[in-house]
Amino acid sequence: MATLLHRARLLDLVTGTLDDPCDILVREGRVASMRPTTGRPRDTDDVTVADLDGRTVIPGLWDEHVHAEQWALASRRFEVSQTASPAEVLQTVHDHLERLPGDGQDIIIQGFGLRASRWRADPSAADLDAVCGPWPVAIVSADLHSTWCSTAALRKLGMNGKAGFLTEADSFAAQTRLARVPRRILNGWLDQCCRRAAACGVVGIRDMEFSSSVDVWTARRSAGGCPMRVEVSVYPDRLDEAVDRGLRTGRPATPGSLVTMGPLKIIVDGSMSTRSAWCHRPYPGAVGPDRTGVDSVAPDELVELMRRARAAGLTPAAHAIGDLAVGVVLDAFERSGAHGFLEHAQLVADADLRRFAQLGVTASVQPAHLIDDRETTDAIWTDRAARSFRFRDLLEAGARLILGSDAPVSPVDPWLAIRVAVERTGDDRPAWHPEQAITMSQALRASTHGIDAVRVGGPADLVALDANPFELHGDELASPVSALTMAGGRISHTRL
Ligand SMILES: [Zn+2]
Repeated sequence: MATLLHRARLLDLVTGTLDDPCDILVREGRVASMRPTTGRPRDTDDVTVADLDGRTVIPGLWDEHVHAEQWALASRRFEVSQTASPAEVLQTVHDHLERLPGDGQDIIIQGFGLRASRWRADPSAADLDAVCGPWPVAIVSADLHSTWCSTAALRKLGMNGKAGFLTEADSFAAQTRLARVPRRILNGWLDQCCRRAAACGVVGIRDMEFSSSVDVWTARRSAGGCPMRVEVSVYPDRLDEAVDRGLRTGRPATPGSLVTMGPLKIIVDGSMSTRSAWCHRPYPGAVGPDRTGVDSVAPDELVELMRRARAAGLTPAAHAIGDLAVGVVLDAFERSGAHGFLEHAQLVADADLRRFAQLGVTASVQPAHLIDDRETTDAIWTDRAARSFRFRDLLEAGARLILGSDAPVSPVDPWLAIRVAVERTGDDRPAWHPEQAITMSQALRASTHGIDAVRVGGPADLVALDANPFELHGDELASPVSALTMAGGRISHTRL
C-alpha cells in the first residue's frame, strides 16, 4: 500500500521559502517520488491520496532526550501545587476526575505537589472520598513527606485501617508502591503520550530511560502502540549484555523496525538546582568537598567506558551539566577516540566551545529548561549565568546542536523547544540572555535528526503544518500545529 501526499509545499529549512505544490509518493516507508502537482489524483487499489491542500511540509521532528516511562507516569499525575487549602485540592481532584475516561478504577490516580505544612489539621480519607467516590486517589506532597489517600487507594496500597493522611515512613512506603504500575497499563499511558507527541509533529525520540530496552520497545510496537521511531539507550550496568548481543548504535531491532539501538548513556555529574553539577569554580558560598559539585564517574573510568563502547559500535552519550563535567567529557572523547553526544551542556567554558566540532561531539540540549531554570541560574550561577544555555556560541564554534526535552522535566513538545531556542523565553517574560538566541533555520535543523530536507529515497518521516514556522512568533509557535504526521511511511497523526 502506498500513500500519495497531494499538494505538499516543501519548506526550505535554510531560507524559510516554500516550493511550489508537489505530489509526494510514499511507498514502503520511503519517499518513492516527488512530482509537481498537476491534476487531481484519485485513490486506487494501491494508492491512498491525502490532500495536504498546500500545507507546509518539513522533515519529521525528534525529541532527542526523553525518559519514556517517567514521561508516561508523569502524564497521569495531576498537579495540585497551585492549591493553598484542602478545599482547593478537593476541587482540583474533582476537576481532574471529570476529565478522565471512565475505566480507570483499577489503577490509583495520582496527584502531586501538596503543601500541607500550614493546614490547621490533617484531612481524612473520608474528605477525599466525598469527591472521588470509588476512585482510588493518592496525592503526594511536594516534599514527598506526606501522601493523602482515599479509602479505595488505601485498600489498593495494602494500608487498610491507616488514617487517610500518611506521613513519613507510611508516606514513603505508599510512594514506592505508587511507582509500580503493571507494564500493560504503563504501555497504554505511554502510547497516549506518543500519540499526543505525534500531534505536535514528533516522529522519533531517543529514550534515556534506565530500565528501557530494545526488547521492551519492540513489544510495544508489535502490540500496535507508540507510533514513532525510538532509539533506545543502554546504561553501563547493561553494557556487557548489549555488547554480547551485538547491539550496535543505529541498528534496527529487526530489518525495517522503527525501534533502533541508541547510545551508551553515561551520567557524569548532577544538576544545577541541587548544586551537584560539576563546575570549575565553587558554588557561591559553598564549602566542603562538594563545593564545586559532584562527579559520578572517575575520568579514567569514563575513558575506559567510551573505549569499550567504541570498540563495540556503541556511541557514547554523556550527561554533563557543569563546565568541569563538560570539559572532562570532551577530554574523554579525545582520549578514547570516540565520537558521540554530550547531553545537556548547560554550562560551557569558553575554551571548550571549539572542541565539540573538533572532536565530533554533538551538543544535545534542552531549551525549555531555560524557562524553569533562568531564575535559579541567576541565583546559583550568578557569576557564570552568561555561559549557560549558550546555544549560539556553540553553533558559531561549529558544534552540531540537537534539541530535546528531558521529559518529564519539560514536555515533549519540539515547538516549545524551538520557540525558547529562538526567542529565549517560553512565556510573557522578556528574553533571557537574548544574545544566545539561534535562528528558526538553526532550531528546525537541530530538531529533524540530521535530515535537512524531504528527498526521494529518504525516509518518509514528515510533518504537514498549517503555517510556515518562519512566520510564527511567541504563542503562535505553541503546538499542536501538525495537520498530518508520518513516521516510517505510516500516518501517526492526522486531522485532515
Ligand atoms: Zn535525562
